Amino acid sequence: MKKKYLLAPGPTPVPPEVLSVMSEPVIHHRSPEFVPILKDVLEGLKWLFQTKNTVMILTSSGTGGMEAAVTNFLSPGDKAVCIRGGKFGERWAEICNAYGVVPVNIDVPWGEAVKPDSVRAALEKDPSIKAVYVQASETCTAVAHPVREIAEIVRKRENTILVVDAITALGVVDLPVDEWGIDICVTGSQKALMLPPGAAFISVSDKAWRFNESAKCPRFYFNLKKEKAKAETGQTNFTSPVAMIIGLRKVLEMMKQEGLKQIFARHAKLAQATREAFRALGLRLLAAESPSSAVTGVYLPDGIDGGAFNKKLRDHYGVTIAGGQDKLKGKIIRVAHLGYADVLDVINAVASVERGLREFGYSFELGAGLRAAEKILFES
Ligand SMILES: *Cc1c(COP(=O)(O)O)cnc(C)c1O
Repeated sequence: MKKKYLLAPGPTPVPPEVLSVMSEPVIHHRSPEFVPILKDVLEGLKWLFQTKNTVMILTSSGTGGMEAAVTNFLSPGDKAVCIRGGKFGERWAEICNAYGVVPVNIDVPWGEAVKPDSVRAALEKDPSIKAVYVQASETCTAVAHPVREIAEIVRKRENTILVVDAITALGVVDLPVDEWGIDICVTGSQKALMLPPGAAFISVSDKAWRFNESAKCPRFYFNLKKEKAKAETGQTNFTSPVAMIIGLRKVLEMMKQEGLKQIFARHAKLAQATREAFRALGLRLLAAESPSSAVTGVYLPDGIDGGAFNKKLRDHYGVTIAGGQDKLKGKIIRVAHLGYADVLDVINAVASVERGLREFGYSFELGAGLRAAEKILFES
């Protein structure tokens, strides 16, 4: 027998009670049966995003939401700051390039967070910059960028909007969209929202809607103005991902039952325990200064190849964790602790990594990581 454990930063495990409602017979997306369900979910999304604005649902992976956050608000030739501290930050610049928007890149060493002052300096140097694109949690490097501080800088500028990829941050850490002044916030179904891949969610501020009026980038499928009009009637512009939305209703119910504060506290604790465990094993964290609460990245000891390590965990123990991307390929592992994750998932992750390290001949005291994790999880 091989039991499977999904401990990668997306897709994440889906709770059984969510899977069960998602497997009910499909209903029609314009039927009187479905409209109230979608309305419920749209209200729930406002709660989750901590916004009064309409949150739109797109049938795509998270990147579709990112693309919509460019094409609906900018025109070819516009300039946009892109914070590039990992693969997802680079993606902002790639999307801009694809549509003729000119990226003004702020490159951040992988594993570090952007300094708010560098964003301020870029905007002061070129006040024509229309938007700032950033990740709240750069999943590639397990870093949390200082969104709150960046928002304070951007919100004072009439002609610049802040766009946050919160795909591994919303529902993980406190990210009050309206209070902080996040103009556009994007998330996806398969990370903290505990759903299968296939939907993106996007909120838009009044300030950003004004940008929409003059934005000339081509767009058809991801037309947020049309989506907003439809959302207000309890529908989506095209066929709704019906099963996904029914699953999301259940997810929102579970999240409300737990409470936002408690959700954030749970993630913070799981993340802290994971970091302490890896430190106790003598491993070096990728993001020591400003770590994400969704995922922890750690360097493997010299001589252990990340690809082989993860394959061993998958083949021997049924455990899926993530490796490094691009220049970190083979050098690091990334363990997720977001969404449907609790204390025993961290224990599993740490125990699995310890076993892997032992199998690859790394010398340490077996259980040292677990003990450090339990200090946080059980004793504090
Ligand atoms: C997962 C993720 C995405 C979206 O990736 P998709 O494969 O398009 O769902 C974007 N940004 C971040 C930070 C992510 O973690």
